[in-house]
Amino acid sequence: MTKREYADILLPGVNHTKEEYEEMYKDRDLPEGAIVTRFAPSPTGFVHIGGLLSSFIARKFAKQTEGVMLLRIEDTDQKRLVENGVSKIIEDLKSFNITFDEGATGEEEYIGNYGPYVQSKRKDIYQAFAKYLIERDLAYPCFMSEEELEEIRKGQEEAKARIGVYGKYAKYRDITIEEALEKINNGEKYIIRFKSPGNFDNKVVVDDAIRGKLEFPENDIDIVIIKGDGLPTYHFAHLVDDHLMKVTHVIRGDEWVSSLPTHVQLFDIFGYKRPTYAHISPLMKKDGETVRKISKRKDPESAVSYYHEQGIPTDAVMIYLMTIANSNFEEWYETNKDKSYMDFEMSFDKVSASGALFDMDKLYNISKNYISTMKAEDLYDKAVEYANEFDKEFYELLTKYKDYSINVLNIEREVERPRKDIESYSNVRREIDYMYDELFNPVYEKKDFYLKELLEYYIDNVYDENDDKQTWFNKIKEMCPKFGFASETKEYKASPDSFKGSVAHACEVIRVAVTGRVQTPDLYEILKLLGKFRIKERIEKF
Ligand code: GLU
Repeated sequence: MTKREYADILLPGVNHTKEEYEEMYKDRDLPEGAIVTRFAPSPTGFVHIGGLLSSFIARKFAKQTEGVMLLRIEDTDQKRLVENGVSKIIEDLKSFNITFDEGATGEEEYIGNYGPYVQSKRKDIYQAFAKYLIERDLAYPCFMSEEELEEIRKGQEEAKARIGVYGKYAKYRDITIEEALEKINNGEKYIIRFKSPGNFDNKVVVDDAIRGKLEFPENDIDIVIIKGDGLPTYHFAHLVDDHLMKVTHVIRGDEWVSSLPTHVQLFDIFGYKRPTYAHISPLMKKDGETVRKISKRKDPESAVSYYHEQGIPTDAVMIYLMTIANSNFEEWYETNKDKSYMDFEMSFDKVSASGALFDMDKLYNISKNYISTMKAEDLYDKAVEYANEFDKEFYELLTKYKDYSINVLNIEREVERPRKDIESYSNVRREIDYMYDELFNPVYEKKDFYLKELLEYYIDNVYDENDDKQTWFNKIKEMCPKFGFASETKEYKASPDSFKGSVAHACEVIRVAVTGRVQTPDLYEILKLLGKFRIKERIEKF
């Protein structure tokens, strides 16, 4: 029996050869230096904040080099599938402006000439590549049972040996064709293992674009390449897909660094050019005294949907991620305030090689600054969008009083130092609710200088809607002595005991009466928007 016939028996029903597949996937016609890269999630419907960071970095590099960013769905672990898992991932990424030039566009559909982009649809391709190895005696059927494997692992742990199927543990490495066929005829189950030609005492060097030169012992483990269900393992799919899809840069999480010796070995054996690897460090978080990885299980901020629910602008998240991703971004952004973060030229050598701290306070700070630069109309639109999803009552008010609401949001906005009290769209209500009679339900504090007479006098005799700001303030000053307040702060400070308070205190009385709060943005603007009638009503209520 020839090796080819043997391979046909081990992996029957494969339609094409490796060579035919290579012929089908043509080289890409791209400008020199173009980066072809990919995001390759499992279709779990969940995007981790670390995944957002990696996909963003990949998106950025592809864009700035006029390359290609593709979305490949890695569903070889069929136990982890979630309904609509692909669409959810696409949607989440899109909300952060991460879009793809090629690849999966839904559960079943895709665009591009290098598909299918869902691994479970590529079974034939992987098997063709595995057959190529079998024919060259670089892969073999392994008949070990789960129990046997478990026993080997236990033995290795006890003997403090390296874990894995290699050397004497690779029981079926040298099985003859006749022995294998006999087992198959007896109905014994098998998987296909790579027959590693590596020697653990030799060294292999990989130049990671982020981490620099990495040195490892050569891989000598006979990894599984085709599993019992006929689908490939991650390692083998990585070789086949990234080669055929003409991926130049593999940008991925650093949990794969330790697999590099296996990956480059596979590329070398097939005679393929190794892709450039760029391993992204995980995002870390402070947890009491320690620093640990952000965990899907423990931390709500690990899910990108969280930022949407909290109403943190996607741009703020991206600006923060950019700050984390490239050490020189912050400086650039300071001096290029009119530009978008997408205009920044990212470089691999500036990507942090150690886990960066992801700090929610820092993000909120960025968010606050970002919102402070938004036009009132834009903030209004975002607040409406947010409220429509998460706060129907507020949504009704915002849309019922549209122009009024925009004016409220515009207070202290287009000024040199705009207000920075709103740190997320979910915060808008908390910051401006007192401007809506429907939501105005204050609990007033009592203070000695909160004089009812002052308020009544003010609304009946002083307040005039047509006054400009200076006149308005001067009139309050003029009124001060009548009620025992100092017109000038200096005057009050010089002898506080001779007064009930200063002009600032007088303003506080008015402010508290009409807003229920000690601190608000510009009182003059607030009064103007409320209008005399509502001010009077509120004073009476007070
Ligand atoms: N499916 C792998 C993961 O989610 C992809 C890693 C890669 O980008 O190669 O970790």
